[in-house]
Amino acid sequence: MSRPIKRHAEIAGAGFSGIASAIALTQRGWSVRVHEASPQLRAFGAGIFIWDNGLHVLDALGAYREVLDGAFAAPAYETRTNGECTSFQAINGPGKQRLLTMTRQHLHHAMLSAAKRLDIEFVTSSEAIGASPEGELWLVDGTRLKADLVIGADGVKSKVRDSLDIPMQRERYHDGLTRVLTPRSILKGGEWDHVIDFWNIRPERTLRILYTPSGEDTLYMAMMAGLNDTEATAIPVNPEVWAEAFPRLRPVLEAIGDNGRYDVYEKTVLERWSSGRVAIVGDSAHAMPPTLAQGAGCAITNALGLAVAIEETDSLEEALQLWERRERPLTDHTQSRASELAASRDLAAGMDWNDIGLKAARHVPTGTSPEFSC
Ligand SMILES: Cc1cc2nc3c(=O)[nH]c(=O)nc-3n(C[C@H](O)[C@H](O)[C@H](O)COP(=O)(O)OP(=O)(O)OC[C@H]3O[C@@H](n4cnc5c(N)ncnc54)[C@H](O)[C@@H]3O)c2cc1C
Repeated sequence: MSRPIKRHAEIAGAGFSGIASAIALTQRGWSVRVHEASPQLRAFGAGIFIWDNGLHVLDALGAYREVLDGAFAAPAYETRTNGECTSFQAINGPGKQRLLTMTRQHLHHAMLSAAKRLDIEFVTSSEAIGASPEGELWLVDGTRLKADLVIGADGVKSKVRDSLDIPMQRERYHDGLTRVLTPRSILKGGEWDHVIDFWNIRPERTLRILYTPSGEDTLYMAMMAGLNDTEATAIPVNPEVWAEAFPRLRPVLEAIGDNGRYDVYEKTVLERWSSGRVAIVGDSAHAMPPTLAQGAGCAITNALGLAVAIEETDSLEEALQLWERRERPLTDHTQSRASELAASRDLAAGMDWNDIGLKAARHVPTGTSPEFSC
């Protein structure tokens, strides 16, 4: 009896969407190889929020238990603007919205461990420079690798995407975030175990610190300042500039030291998410401002959704169409709401605790179990 031939995928990028794609395809009988441009497999950035939808996907990928062990489940999410509480929401309790916070390195490591358990091949220092719709991935050293499916999961500056003829819109906003990690021991317990979105709005300057416990010992702060505010966007962070607006956070601001990176809010919209045998996944397809903390959630949801669509259909062309038809409306909705919030600074009045803002968080992603609960 002849065995079905294993189909093969070449994936550019070992970030969250590349690893999720690799696991989901391997689980469905594919062979995959993941190319990472960096010399090491690691996550860049500081902390990350993962809502219920992302947790469902991590469960389906076999990474949830390891994510849970080391992540933080805050009991509440508050917004405080100019010293007044504008919103208070209990989270993570029975019947409440689930939202875990963690370091990016922790999430990446847990996903990588799940991938390694499946013997997925990763090649580091392997930079993709493009792909052909016929199913070739091109590497910087001149190698051309043939595959049944090529995935461009190489982030917001995707070379795979840019090599294809897919019309794209890109938008930048007037704000951005400096992300830092500091020890939690300085402020801990009681209110300091909450996620607190601090805003300081003055006619001359608006600053925001999203204070986020992200593990037993680690605090993540996402510090928002206008793109043109040279003092508040400077790296290293000047604690005096920030402590003037948020005096209670002075001890943690003084512990930041040299770490931190400022990224402006931006979004990318593609006319379509695939071309021939190439699928574009994650930030390369739909980068969004982090105002709803759903970029990675949508990225891994769509990576899993792609593998499920392929499993359900006979031809790759049909699968890619089904995938985009099924997954894209929610991503478009989330990206568009995240963009409105980035442009308006309306989060100063509180997180979007409603079906518009939490539509993605409350969605049970394709290929996951509705019964799953922590
Ligand atoms: C300030 C900020 C805060 C955020 N906060 C959250 C949050 O709390 N929750 C959330 O869900 N999302 C958040 N996001 C969004 C989230 O970071 C992204 O959506 C997510 O990282 C996308 O994953 P990705 O794998 O598609 O891309 P990336 O994480 O960018 O990974 C791409 C990978 O590809 C590699 N690579 C790049 N070019 C090449 C190449 N040519 N060849 C091979 N490899 C290549 C890179 O080194 C990297 O490893 C935030 C984003 C920002 C900017």
